[in-house]
Parts: sequence; C-alpha cells; structure tokens
Amino acid sequence: MNVKMKKVLLKDRQTVVDVYDLLKNDELNDSLVCTDCKISVTFVNPSKKSPHFRAHKNHRDNCSYNGWGIAENIANESEGIVYQLSKEEFIVDIDKVQLLVKEYKEGKTRSKNAEKEIRQIYFRTISSILRLKKVIESEFEGGKIFSNAIKIKVGNKVIAWNDFYYEEDAKRLNKCFGRDAKHVGDTVCLEGEYLVNEIRGEICLTLKDPWVEAKKDGYKYIPSVRFTFQDPALAANIKELIGDKKKRATILLDIECYLSPLQKSLYYYQNITGNIYNSKQIHFHN
Ligand SMILES: [Zn+2]
Repeated sequence: MNVKMKKVLLKDRQTVVDVYDLLKNDELNDSLVCTDCKISVTFVNPSKKSPHFRAHKNHRDNCSYNGWGIAENIANESEGIVYQLSKEEFIVDIDKVQLLVKEYKEGKTRSKNAEKEIRQIYFRTISSILRLKKVIESEFEGGKIFSNAIKIKVGNKVIAWNDFYYEEDAKRLNKCFGRDAKHVGDTVCLEGEYLVNEIRGEICLTLKDPWVEAKKDGYKYIPSVRFTFQDPALAANIKELIGDKKKRATILLDIECYLSPLQKSLYYYQNITGNIYNSKQIHFHN
C-alpha cells in the first residue's frame, strides 16, 4: 500500500520537485522517481483538481512511502498495544490497556511509579491510535482498504475501527450511543470540540449538543456527551488550559449510555458519559 507522494525526484536523480513545479513546467514530467526508494513514479491528473504523483508498483519495504512499513513501525513502537496479525492486518488491543491499568491500580506490579506508568500506557495507546488514524485518513491512496485492515480488540471481541472511533456529528454520536446497547464493549475514542463546564458541582468536558431533526413520532433524540474529571487538580489544569473557548481533542475512555426524557417536551437526551482520571486520556489537536 503506497502513501500519497507530495514530492518526487527529477530524472537527474538530484532535484526535488512538487506538483506545482510540474504544473508550471510540463517539460519536467520525464522519468520521475521516488525521493526515497527511487522506483519510478508518474504525474497524474495534471488538468484536474487533484494532481498528484503515483507509483505503479509498491515502494520498497523500508521506503518512507510504503504504508505497511509505516504501520509496522507504529506497531513496533507501541510496546504490544498495537500488533500485527499479518502483513496487512493490525489490532489495537484495548483489553491490554485496561489490564495494564488495572494491574497498576491494584498494586500487582508494586511499581513505585505506578501513576507515571499508567500515564505512559494511555499516552502510548492514544498516540498510536491517532498516528494510525492519520495514516488511514490522509496519507493512503487506498484509504478504505487500509481502514479495513485495522481492528480494535475490546471486551474480548474484535470490532471495526468505525465502531471504536467517533467524531462529533449527530449520526456518528447516535451510532456511538447505540453501540453500547449492543454490548460490544465500552471503550471508545471520541473526537470533537470540547468545552469545560461545571455541572452539578463537577467539572466536565462536554460537546455541544448537535442539531437533530425530529423522528416520525415527533420526538427528537439528541446525543449529549459529558465526561467528568475525577481528579480536581487535573480538572483545574484543563480549565486553565481551555478557558471558556472550545478545543478539539480526542478522548480515550469507557463510556456509559442512557436515555433521559425531558419532562413535558418532545426531547430525549441520548447521554454518553464517562470519567477522566488521567491527563493522558486526552489528546489535544493543534
Ligand atoms: Zn519509495
């Protein structure tokens, strides 16, 4: 699986050019090669919206444009949280994350640095997940094929990436809400624009309730996301960091889902709640 190329080498094998150079001067379009493994590449769609370079066979195994190689590196650096089933299949093992955290919490490992170790586990997990996600979404020529190659092991079941990683639009949140009811396990990553709120004396991160249309019965089912800090010092830090603005973040946590009707109105809230124990459960996007 090849990663999209932004730059290539000209036939002199020394000059690096990008699509804009090629668009300006079509004489450069001759015997182009990969900047890294030097296999031959061509300039595609010069007259259309998305001109790019394409290699017609796979980049060599250790080339930085070989997607499987990139994914393999992510797996190797994750210390067992992401592992490779076969060359083109990867598992993110959330059960292992939960087990490691549980062992540290119960003091089984007797580590003096248990708290620090837990932070590292969350950090490794979320950073591996987001790096894989980046590879899936923007880097691959065959993104869909690749996303099929990543599965999540949670609650002793293996589920699809799409049943684990959710973004904030109403459809996805609705699916996230329904997922728990199916008892597929309850650890998710939820990405969105978060706000700090105080609800009944507790500091929370919340997502703005999305706009939804009423169903045929006239009722609206509004996904409502609220994650509560369990550590007052962490809550204070995040509150200071975000202030009263919104901040895009991905949060890794166990969720609970329950429906609550609003008295005398045509609304139901699809509550998605969870707890934040540790700053490393939150990854802020730039
Ligand atoms: Zn290459």
